[in-house]
Formats: sequence, structure tokens, C-alpha cells
Amino acid sequence: MQDNIGRSIDYIRVSVTDRCNLRCRYCMPEEGVPLLRHEDILRFEEVAAFLRVAAAQGIVHVRLTGGEPLHRPGIVDLVGMLTEIPGLKDLSMTTNGTLLPPLAADLRRAGLQRINIGLPSLDPATYAALTRFGSLDQALAGVQSALEAGFDPVKLNVVVLRGINDSLAPYVELTKRWPVAVRFIEYMSIGPLGEDHFLVPAAEMRAMLEELGPLEPAEKPAGNGPARSYWRVPGAPGSLAVIAPTTEHFCPECNRLRLVADGHLRLCLFGAEEIDIRPALRPAVDEEALRGLLARAMQEKPVCMPDGARDYGRAMGSIGG
Ligand code: SAM
Repeated sequence: MQDNIGRSIDYIRVSVTDRCNLRCRYCMPEEGVPLLRHEDILRFEEVAAFLRVAAAQGIVHVRLTGGEPLHRPGIVDLVGMLTEIPGLKDLSMTTNGTLLPPLAADLRRAGLQRINIGLPSLDPATYAALTRFGSLDQALAGVQSALEAGFDPVKLNVVVLRGINDSLAPYVELTKRWPVAVRFIEYMSIGPLGEDHFLVPAAEMRAMLEELGPLEPAEKPAGNGPARSYWRVPGAPGSLAVIAPTTEHFCPECNRLRLVADGHLRLCLFGAEEIDIRPALRPAVDEEALRGLLARAMQEKPVCMPDGARDYGRAMGSIGG
């Protein structure tokens, strides 16, 4: 599919639930988000029906996200259903990893190919404070279970907040031991913290990494993420990258749509524009109507994120990151 300015759109992030077992301070308010009614959340059959049409129109990459996707009962079954869709070549997931150990092998067997794990600190106290309910040990057990299950690559998402978790050295050390791709992500003020003073610009993160010792260019791991270059400590199994959605935004290369758990197709992370696809799914799936809505999404996808806008319509934790 091509949008109104010729960008090729081949990637959809699907938020399968608005619920999460953590309350990361940069992502969700402490009280959580106003919960969707059960009947408003798309059923797995509806997600699969939509993705069948989207794949026939050219979507090849799908990433399951949340809320916390592992919090949704039956998530392994959804993975199995999606791997049967002709045309979908790449199925991945973004998770906080804490619920992963008992599920990692089943997810891999069901056909999930790649996994990204949010890991905002390697210090137990900072991890607990940042995630409000989280245990670093459980998150690290999740990373280990992903590696043991054979996911390749395993990427770690680190949203860097000034003065809170902006020491990058422990992650550099981790890449010397584990074959993980660590991605330091600029804080986006779409999160509940609001303030921009938490932002550590990508250029500053790159300078911090250079100060920590020599790095060499590393191969970009499989996937379609927005990190432009990867580096590694010479000889290390893991790699490092910086993602700059705030100071070096990548709108001209944007290749994605987002499906929110309640069946709204979100055209831009930063814009409140959404298209409700439920009328084309309920009471019965109408493939022609779904194709029409995708065509409309291509026409209406914003050229770039709105300048200085503050009306995002939803919290980051509901959109899917
Ligand atoms: N629960 C899962 C998790 O923790 O990864 C999936 C949902 S979460 C919304 C997806 C990703 O969004 C997180 O891993 C994090 O990297 C990113 N994210 C959340 N809030 C952010 C913010 N304010 N700025 C930048 N990235 C953010």
C-alpha cells in the first residue's frame, strides 16, 4: 500500500489489550487508563480477519503490543492464527517480559519470530520505581527465556529519562555477555510524565556511548525498527542503538499503521486521527468495507507529526508504543 505521499506502508502494530501488569511512569498513569469494556475489545477472530485483508493489500510485518500483550489470555492462540495468514512474513511482539518465562517456548513454537522487551533499568530499585509494580529479576528472567527459546533478535527497549535511568554503562556491559540488541529510546512527552525536561536527545546519548569506550559498527538486526545504526563493543555478542522519535523524527520513512485494542486504526502515533474499523467487522466481517477503510487510511495518513500538538487522544500505553 502506498499512502498519499508515496510512503510504502507494510507494517501494522496491533495493540491486543489496554491492560498492563506494570505502570511504567513514562507510559501509563498510576491508576491505569480508563479501561475499555470487554465487548469493545476486538476478538482474536476479528483481529485475524482484519489482518487477512491487510496482508492481501501488502502488509507483511505485524507486531503485537499492548498494554501488555502477554496479559491477554490466549495470546499464544492468536500468534498461531496469525501465522496462517498468507502474505504475513514477520510476526513480532513488544512486551515488558515479566510474564514471558512460562510462555516463551510456546510463543516460539506457535510462530512468533522476534521479541522486543521493555527494560528501563538494570538497577533493581530504579526498575521497581520506574515500573511501579515491576521486579527486575522477573524482567531479566523474561529476557533469558526469550534467548533460550531461540528468538533472534531479542531487542531491549530502554526509554531514557534524564536524571532517572540515564546511565548507559550497565547496558553496554550487558551486551558484552548477552546477544541482545539494546535500543536507547528518546522519551516522548506523549507519556503521562508530560514534561520535556526528561528528554535526553539522541545526539547526547550517542556522545555518552562514545565516552564509554570504543565501539564499532554492527549489523542492523532483523526487523523494521527505526534505529538507523547499530554499534557494538568490539567482540561483544550484543549491540547498541539509539532511536530518536523526538529530535530526529522519521516521518518521511514512516511505514506503519497502528490498530488499537478497541478496533481503531491509528494513522500516526502523535496524532489523534483514527478510523473505526469495527463497523466493517461487526456483526459480520465485510472484506470490501475493510479494504475501503485501508484505502481511506492511506489517503488520510498525516504527512508528519503535528507540530507542538498536545492532543494525542490516548495514553501511550493504550496506543501500543
Ligand atoms: N507493555 C509492553 C512494553 O512494556 O513494552 C508493550 C506496550 S509499551 C506501550 C511499548 C513500548 O513503548 C515500550 O517498550 C517503550 O519502549 C515505549 N514507550 C512507552 N512510553 C514511551 C514514552 N513516553 N516515550 C518513548 N517510548 C515509550
